[in-house]
Amino acid sequence: MSAEPERQRVRSRAYISGLVQGVGFRPFVWREATSRGLTGWVGNDAAGVVLEVEGPVDAVYSLLESLSRPPPLARVDEVRSHPVPPVGGAGFQVRTSNTEGARSALISPDTATCAECSREMRDEADRRFRHPFVNCTSCGPRYTIVVSVPYDRSRTTMAAFPLCAACQAEYDDPANRRFHAEPVCCPDCGPRLRLVDRSGQAVDGDPIQSATGVLNRGGVVAVKGLGGYHLAVDASNEDAVGALRRRKHREDRPFAVMVADVDAARDLCRIGSDELGLLVSPARPIVLLQRLPAAQVAPSVAPGSPRLGLMLPYTPLHSLLLDAFGGPLVLTSGNISDEPIAFDDGDASTRLAGIADAFLLHDRAIRTRVDDSVSAVVHGRVVPIRRSRGYVPAPLALPVEAPEPVLACGSSLKNTFCVTRGSQAFVSHHVGDLDDYSTLRSFIDGIAHLTNLLDVEPRVLAHDLHPDYPSTRYAMDRPDARLVPVQHHHAHIASCLADNGEHGPVIGVAFDGVGLGTDGTAWGGEFLVADLTGFTRAAHLAPVAMPGGDAAARQPWRMAAAHLHTAYDGQPPADLDVVRRQGRRWGQVLAAAQAGVNAPLTSSAGRLFDAVSALLGVRDEVTYEGQAAIDLEHAADPDETGSYLLPVSDDPVATVQVAHLVRSVTEDLLRGTAVPVLAARFHNALADMVLDVCSRLRDRHGLGTVALSGGVFQNALLLGRCLDLLEAGGFRVLTHRQVPPNDGGLSLGQAAVAAALLRAG
Ligand code: ZN
Ligand code: ZN
Ligand code: FE
Repeated sequence: MSAEPERQRVRSRAYISGLVQGVGFRPFVWREATSRGLTGWVGNDAAGVVLEVEGPVDAVYSLLESLSRPPPLARVDEVRSHPVPPVGGAGFQVRTSNTEGARSALISPDTATCAECSREMRDEADRRFRHPFVNCTSCGPRYTIVVSVPYDRSRTTMAAFPLCAACQAEYDDPANRRFHAEPVCCPDCGPRLRLVDRSGQAVDGDPIQSATGVLNRGGVVAVKGLGGYHLAVDASNEDAVGALRRRKHREDRPFAVMVADVDAARDLCRIGSDELGLLVSPARPIVLLQRLPAAQVAPSVAPGSPRLGLMLPYTPLHSLLLDAFGGPLVLTSGNISDEPIAFDDGDASTRLAGIADAFLLHDRAIRTRVDDSVSAVVHGRVVPIRRSRGYVPAPLALPVEAPEPVLACGSSLKNTFCVTRGSQAFVSHHVGDLDDYSTLRSFIDGIAHLTNLLDVEPRVLAHDLHPDYPSTRYAMDRPDARLVPVQHHHAHIASCLADNGEHGPVIGVAFDGVGLGTDGTAWGGEFLVADLTGFTRAAHLAPVAMPGGDAAARQPWRMAAAHLHTAYDGQPPADLDVVRRQGRRWGQVLAAAQAGVNAPLTSSAGRLFDAVSALLGVRDEVTYEGQAAIDLEHAADPDETGSYLLPVSDDPVATVQVAHLVRSVTEDLLRGTAVPVLAARFHNALADMVLDVCSRLRDRHGLGTVALSGGVFQNALLLGRCLDLLEAGGFRVLTHRQVPPNDGGLSLGQAAVAAALLRAG
């Protein structure tokens, strides 16, 4: 007879690491345990979640197994468990935070309002009906409100709001979806919304309705959001959008638009399935989309661009505002020109005073300024443009574990920094352009904050070779630092490798504006044979002068002058429009360049785009970085298949004879070929050249993988053609997936190189 043996009772302790705090993990364990009739407890510790469960052996194992299917926002990196002696007892308890031990728990990124909270907010019978701060364990503010760790209400900016009895009951009930949701609140106990006018006077009535009134009259409303202040105007009102541009001193750079929902987004743009996935993801980035010809959007929103940057509401406040307003809103960063976005209340009221007609405010402080993230989709691949809100501070996996923590200081423009702990890389929020003093201060504060949250004190500091980057100076000024200098384009390629979890070696194509090379010249059109520990410069664009140095980046016609001068041995055709437009300045700039006055040599691909943009009359001067190249991309006829030959001379280092390309474009231009055709042929020629050079390097080095990085690869036309050609040519092509190809991704590459070098000893 097979009498059922009495099932063995066991007790097990488990440690769970990963993104497991502030994401509903303990209530999830409580539900799994109580539904199986198990006893024990679960708690947070500084390293993650720890639990003990006791009961029949199969039920305990089934619970441990269920830990790998966690709630939506959680991410389990590792579960370690071991048996402990059974102690009996009854019930399953959820323990509150224990602040001892290593502080290695992860903080969740800020997350868009979940479906259940959205439903509550629209339910008249719910006590959180129209509550602008509704949230739960699956959604709401996180990183932007965290002051310290472990993640707990008392260490967030919600500490100022004591829970009411009803919220406290939800907070304490493991069966409730707000169990230990640290920012939980309601209209009785939560932050308050208010509208104030330009003079700081409170406006009576419902703040959302009053703000909508201001918007309807064409006014500008400053809206305090999750990671900073936005400026909002009616996106269909040209006068309002134009006024915002003037007051903000922002000339051409496109504004982002927030729409109420996916249907409203489809009224404005063509949306593919990958793009839709990004748009509705919990991170809610701005997604760059192809706009529809009939889109009802004021011309000044994105002047001359076939694209629009759209995002969906990601806080309850945004949803209420969009619902009340009923149409798309421009929602752009609350700042003047290139300053960092305002996030401190006092600072915002001063800095935005001349811009906003009203302020939609609340009294929950923002600890960390976090800008909206931006992404696009090219050929079914996500191209991150800016990685910030919604993604930070989730870690990325390093392909090589660093034996000790590393701080990578990043670039000077579009700065992010990166802190490593073990095999994890924490790339910071978008800090911005460090030549602005307040941005530099937020860089320094951000490093102190993130290293404190991660409980690391990195002694190894990775930095760019450029001695004048404020980030480089920061590294060099730190006492006791062990410095790891990383060449700019090596960092770009290493970033792409790390982004894909690879070590190399690969053929790295790094096309960007400029970065300092190991020979002291400004590189930017580079083919590197690289792995994480090193590189050789295998090919590059032929260098030309960059007349006026940094001025050339603002005045692309200077690069046209330099390239034409080189291409025609100092005798460019006289009857070119760009020469006529610039008049005397043209000759002066060339004379200075010839005399070697402030005319460093550059192999930059970005500056070549600038030159051709000016040569074709697309853009002579820019108001933001990359504008001439972006306009040239948008000018190109995507159906044009013609190209130009771009010979490569096999010096010791292969050199791409750019002069040949410049002559071809010029001759076609003089023949009267249309600009859209010329712009497309230029793109095609570069893509053909990339394939040609990569094929040569494959033959020479036996490498079949190409990594594409650098800001130039944000160009969808160029990236698309390169992907087509390289893949057809049998290459495996790595592109960025999580961090941008532009300098925003540089810190990850620096960190990966430092980790690999430390590892190699
Ligand atoms: Zn929620
Ligand atoms: Zn409450
Ligand atoms: Fe760069």
